[in-house]
Amino acid sequence: MRRTRVAFSLITYHLSLITYHFNEHVSEAIKVQDERRPAVPKDAAVVVLVRAAGEGAHDPEVFWARRSEGMAFQPGFYAFPGGQRDEADAEVEVENASDRETAQMIACAARELFEELGVLAARGAEHLTKGQLASVLDDMTSGRMSFAELLKHYGLRLDARDFRYAGRWVTPPFSPRRFDTLFFVVECPPKQRPRLLTTEFDEGGWERASEAHERWRRFELMAAPPVIHAVRTLAGGLGEDLTERFLSVPQARREPVRRIEFLPGFVCVPLRTPTKPPATTTNCYVVGTRDFVVFDPGSPYEDEQAALFEFVKELFDEGRRLREIVLTHHHPDHVGGVGRLREQLGGVCVAAHRLTAEVLEGQVRVDRFVEDGDVIELEGDPSIRLRAMHTPGHTRGHLSFYDERAGALLTGDNIVGIGSVLIDPEEGSVRDYLATLERYRRLPRLVALFGGHGPAVGSPAAKIDEYVEHRLMREREVLAAVRAGASTPQEIVERAYKDVHTKMHALAARAVLAHLLKLEEDGLVRREGGGFTANQ
Ligand SMILES: [Zn+2]
Repeated sequence: MRRTRVAFSLITYHLSLITYHFNEHVSEAIKVQDERRPAVPKDAAVVVLVRAAGEGAHDPEVFWARRSEGMAFQPGFYAFPGGQRDEADAEVEVENASDRETAQMIACAARELFEELGVLAARGAEHLTKGQLASVLDDMTSGRMSFAELLKHYGLRLDARDFRYAGRWVTPPFSPRRFDTLFFVVECPPKQRPRLLTTEFDEGGWERASEAHERWRRFELMAAPPVIHAVRTLAGGLGEDLTERFLSVPQARREPVRRIEFLPGFVCVPLRTPTKPPATTTNCYVVGTRDFVVFDPGSPYEDEQAALFEFVKELFDEGRRLREIVLTHHHPDHVGGVGRLREQLGGVCVAAHRLTAEVLEGQVRVDRFVEDGDVIELEGDPSIRLRAMHTPGHTRGHLSFYDERAGALLTGDNIVGIGSVLIDPEEGSVRDYLATLERYRRLPRLVALFGGHGPAVGSPAAKIDEYVEHRLMREREVLAAVRAGASTPQEIVERAYKDVHTKMHALAARAVLAHLLKLEEDGLVRREGGGFTANQ
């Protein structure tokens, strides 16, 4: 098997030269890929719906819910109701708003709250019966009336004082979808009951803010930084200083979010790298709550390396201890900052798989080999126990790391949160890749996949299935194209990859070659005259 790959790689040597600079995780489906700019954030508003529980406002209840697995943005994440601004939101009158923009975002928040949870945070709504409220909702969802029209029609008023400002967060550039989101704390109007009305959420409800935060700490769910910040802040009570406490972190004032902790102790630090579009960054992970490990410090850029070092120094100042740097695989956008970080730290152990170390020889010194089944124990609260998995597919020495209690899997470039994974022979293998995906799928508990690029995946099972299905579909297409007479990877691409921009055809040919090699091993195609022919 190994020999055929080498032999064939000579034939395709010219191709590999062409594609040398694009050898990984390039989406086969995205049409134009030369954009090197992150997505532009869209305006959005979110409602943090609260009700004061029991003894008052000390530890209010908050309404949150899990985003359905089918959602494009943050599937599987716990979140609050909210959504994108609509042009028509500008037509809604909002009393006591400081400016037009705020008014429009409050209208957006109120509309989303009504659509998603059936809660109408408008003055005058207290006079409506349950039945009337239901018909108001029906008027809107059926499209009979716009939100502005129905407020007028029923004599209802939005008042900005009912929407306490709770910060404004911008989704980091590593995400394929980004929002510039205003957060508002709204007290649930008496007699109204929120319920999940749309398919956007699949489960959720009222929870004490402190308990919501504890559940996240116990790895029972994952959520984005502004959501965790919100429940933590609310757990401190609903006092006069609420807005001030919400704004106490710079990210809540539109400062870039550099450290993203979707699960406790798993901090993602996206660093700008010369990676493959549509990604613009590579995720470095700083894992551990006391002892910690740095995975894939990949940026070759000085400013990014300085930012990472700054973070590590802060952790040292907190008395925390760096155990080592660990590499998932050898690609330049994952190892580009190792040398510099080692230097800044005055030396630190670098660990990787033996096969990764071999490829990196002369570029990055690897001090310790990590093998399948090795465990990295990280003391702290909570403690973290990472089990190494040798998971070839994207590269031969690729490692993944799994913590069963957290349900966290560091997938490196085998599964990513933006774009898709290219399997490029000969360091990549479709057969190994499918076996790796199968291993991922059999893991006993998965809450989140932390990939080498893009946001974490909160719907692990669905994502793994999607990846497997995508590979099998490509395999069927490649085989069908060979059976229909296409012979070389290029011919197959022209036939089977109609959805791929011609700019990407050289790359797609690499992916096709990977599939052909597997089909050859399976005995379904054979080599003939510089190309491939189907076996009968
Ligand atoms: Zn890679």
